[in-house]
Amino acid sequence: MAADQTIQKVLSKLSANYGKRQGWTEEVFSVWRDGLQHMPDRLLFDASKRWLAEQSRAPTVANIRSIAKSLKPEIGTLTPQGCRRCDQTGWVEVAHHLSRPNGGESRVNTYTAACDCAAGYRLGIGSAMPWEAFVGRLKADPYTLQLFHSTPEQPHLTKWQRLTPEQLERLSMSRIAPSSTGSWHKVKPSV
Ligand SMILES: [Zn+2]
Repeated sequence: MAADQTIQKVLSKLSANYGKRQGWTEEVFSVWRDGLQHMPDRLLFDASKRWLAEQSRAPTVANIRSIAKSLKPEIGTLTPQGCRRCDQTGWVEVAHHLSRPNGGESRVNTYTAACDCAAGYRLGIGSAMPWEAFVGRLKADPYTLQLFHSTPEQPHLTKWQRLTPEQLERLSMSRIAPSSTGSWHKVKPSV
């Protein structure tokens, strides 16, 4: 996968750095190309950079491959890690049960807010409110009856948490999901 030009560039750099004789680059080129078939350019650059920083002799292609192997996990962590609360997604589910000002059937709103882990932080920037602040705001609502949110022990809310008792009853009678609970609403940051 590494492009010929990339391999060429890396080899000239190594050659210059380790004072290789004239013609070395051309000599080893085909062996390197065969050995680097499955290596992305970026990884080849990073691996040779690491070698240059740490070693006093020129590497073989096998040296570069083994360094690349050890670097791979670092590349993997560029994707932010989620946690158990958000089930690695960065989103926390929130169900807000509230009574109506004029009495009558209670209702429930479901939301997804940003988790407080790295994945949630990354996803949440500018697009979602942190879940704790959001839950705090809902708690302050005088019509709040009950609040449920994802926890590390239970990242996904059950239908008993997402639906009102009346909705559950209708659901059990009709086996059709009430239309008002069909989707999650992303929580926008408050201005
Ligand atoms: Zn999380």
